[in-house]
Amino acid sequence: MLIGGMQKNSLIDYPGKVSAALFTIGCNMRCGYCHNPELVLPERYANSMNLDEIFDFLEARKDKLDGIVISGGEPTMQPDLYDFIKTIKEMGYLVKLDTQGTNSKILKKLIEDKLIDFVAMDVKGPLDKYVMLAARPVDLDTILESISIIRDSGIDHEFRTTVVKEQIDPSDFQKIGELVKGAKRFALQRFRPGNTVSPSFSRKTTYSDEEFEEFKEIMSKYVKECVVH
Ligand code: SF4
Repeated sequence: MLIGGMQKNSLIDYPGKVSAALFTIGCNMRCGYCHNPELVLPERYANSMNLDEIFDFLEARKDKLDGIVISGGEPTMQPDLYDFIKTIKEMGYLVKLDTQGTNSKILKKLIEDKLIDFVAMDVKGPLDKYVMLAARPVDLDTILESISIIRDSGIDHEFRTTVVKEQIDPSDFQKIGELVKGAKRFALQRFRPGNTVSPSFSRKTTYSDEEFEEFKEIMSKYVKECVVH
């Protein structure tokens, strides 16, 4: 496991739980808006942390933390993710996995073996914009499969889309809604400029609060709960 960072205490990464978050190094997408270039761009990779120290920390915090969030980068690119999560589960933690759905096989296995309790999957946008948004080739069948696996899993889950005004049109929300129809929860994430994978995104914008309320109304027709971050 290549872990480039750890958030030792978080009230936001795992809804309703006190958690620690671990951020894996490496991603097979290059979303321009991504705020983790040190986990995504090889020339900027963070140093990987010592796993023994991470496990010592998790062992020591068992009474204070409810869950562990495995985020990235893209965690499912790590070949030893399954065993890593299994060890964390054996410590008694709840586990939340953040993914963009490009590895449906490991996702399915983790869910089937009851090793994860919550999955949050990025849905980059409507299928016809996926390659543009990810800035990499994407196997759309695998994305669809991951969505189905998560939605039908019965475990807590959330799909989420980061909304850059120059990339996502208001008419795209119906298409996104169709993709995630029946899901428990959907999060609309406002794009915030900053330290992004593509420097050109410092000039990009997002929609107004009123417009986000309209998007929320559209998405609420497709999912049980829709939130705006
Ligand atoms: S936002 Fe995109 S580039 Fe960044 S970690 Fe997620 S999938 Fe990878």
